[in-house]
Amino acid sequence: MTQLADLTAATRATLARVAAEFSPAVFASSLALEDMVLTDLILRAGLPIGIFSLDTGRLHPETLAVLDAVKATYDHEIAVYRPDPAAVEAYVSAKGLNAFYDSVELRRECCHIRKVEPLGRALAGKRAWITGQRRAQSATRADLAVQEDDPAHGMVKFNPLADWSEEDVWNYIRSNNVPYNVLHDQGYPSIGCAPCTRAIQPGEDIRAGRWWWENPESKECGLHVVDGKLVRIKSVAA
Ligand code: SF4
Repeated sequence: MTQLADLTAATRATLARVAAEFSPAVFASSLALEDMVLTDLILRAGLPIGIFSLDTGRLHPETLAVLDAVKATYDHEIAVYRPDPAAVEAYVSAKGLNAFYDSVELRRECCHIRKVEPLGRALAGKRAWITGQRRAQSATRADLAVQEDDPAHGMVKFNPLADWSEEDVWNYIRSNNVPYNVLHDQGYPSIGCAPCTRAIQPGEDIRAGRWWWENPESKECGLHVVDGKLVRIKSVAA
């Protein structure tokens, strides 16, 4: 557990620095396991960092239940941002509810409406934002740094868990009795919208269940690239 203690101390220090030097800062929680580690660290330390989540309208009920678990455990309400109803309606009427299966472009468009645009609203006026991304999660995150510039949003982005392994995350969750999405116990190491997430088999890549019908290099929702577009992922990673 020494490694976990060291990682936890470093992450606490990063979060405290963000709060002290980059206010106002926010943490974008997707309610995943990693995000629960950061939620626990932020709320237990009482840091002045806002926590928000994006309810795309297509999440599993088990994911939405995490919002209630956070309220029950920490007496804290995570702020929830939702897509523009008119944009969702226009997409669904013109292309279909599940048109994202038909092409990468239609998938990016759905992600833009349901995630990227609401994210922009959540980040407006902030100096820094925080994510629960880890380097080991996928090919597109291999070069992830704890601190990086995010010119698309005009602020600094922090990934305090960049160095953490999946085992480190589980060790923290279990040692500290942190609530988490029960889907993680049902073969879902990575959880997004219900129609775009499937359980994985033992030995599969941990993000193999996300947008599984696309190439690994395309598997990002557009929230973490320089111009909000998936097409830039490869060049950024390179
Ligand atoms: S993950 Fe799927 S349902 Fe969710 S916003 Fe992206 S394309 Fe749409």
